[in-house]
Amino acid sequence: MSVTLVIAGLGPGSSDLITPEVEAALADASDLVGYGPYVARVMAREDLVVHASDNREEIERARQALELAESGRRVVVVSSGDPGVFAMAAAVFEAMEAGPPSWRSLDIRVLPGVTAMLAAAARVGAPLGHDFCAINLSDNLKPWSLIEKRLRLAVEADFAMALYNPRSKARPQGFARALTLLQEACGDARPLVFARAVSTDEESIAVVPLTEAQPEMADMRTVVIVGSSLTRRIERGGAPLVYTPRSAAA
Ligand code: SAH
Repeated sequence: MSVTLVIAGLGPGSSDLITPEVEAALADASDLVGYGPYVARVMAREDLVVHASDNREEIERARQALELAESGRRVVVVSSGDPGVFAMAAAVFEAMEAGPPSWRSLDIRVLPGVTAMLAAAARVGAPLGHDFCAINLSDNLKPWSLIEKRLRLAVEADFAMALYNPRSKARPQGFARALTLLQEACGDARPLVFARAVSTDEESIAVVPLTEAQPEMADMRTVVIVGSSLTRRIERGGAPLVYTPRSAAA
């Protein structure tokens, strides 16, 4: 029996990083639902109906997917990276919880993908090799005060951090404030990784000390990895390796 609603991650960009499980679900779909640039990454097919939508319409897109699935279509909702990381899976469940009871009996499956922080970490070494957290710097759905609180507590707990959605044209100031907070709270030159468009033709990776990091180094296609106090650089000519050792002292 085929699943009626699949929420799938397309990985960070390269088709090599799409899992075979997601490829199979896409091949079996009758309808594809997602943000325009993401559905554009899926090979067009005559018998595949594509429903592309704008970035900010997540809940509406989720409802549309649930309605299509209920009407008997085989729907795949796509996200970049992993669908459970700052993406469509939670939006579909929010819509389901608020929607008609019949949506709860749909056959739904979430298929994981390679999330941006893991693709970025792999490029430079192993900066997430010890405990870490992931924080979405967008204040579209939460107050900026909460973002600052989480950043401060993450520094206190000495987590390495992956910062998603660091900076967009609509929110140019947030990342500058986050950087200042980190520079003041950490007070050292721990490595930061600016990983842009990882696994695409436009990929660029920069490793800079926190003390020298500038807001313009990030945009909306960048994930920023902030080392913990233990994160190290291995110099070996050319780009350094960055890693966080597996152990921390008592
Ligand atoms: N579900 C996605 C994240 C969506 S939020 C995932 O798991 O990766 C969008 C943010 O993800 C971007 O602002 C950026 O911070 C990050 N991102 C997505 N793709 C990326 C890539 N190829 N390279 C670097 N960062 C990326």
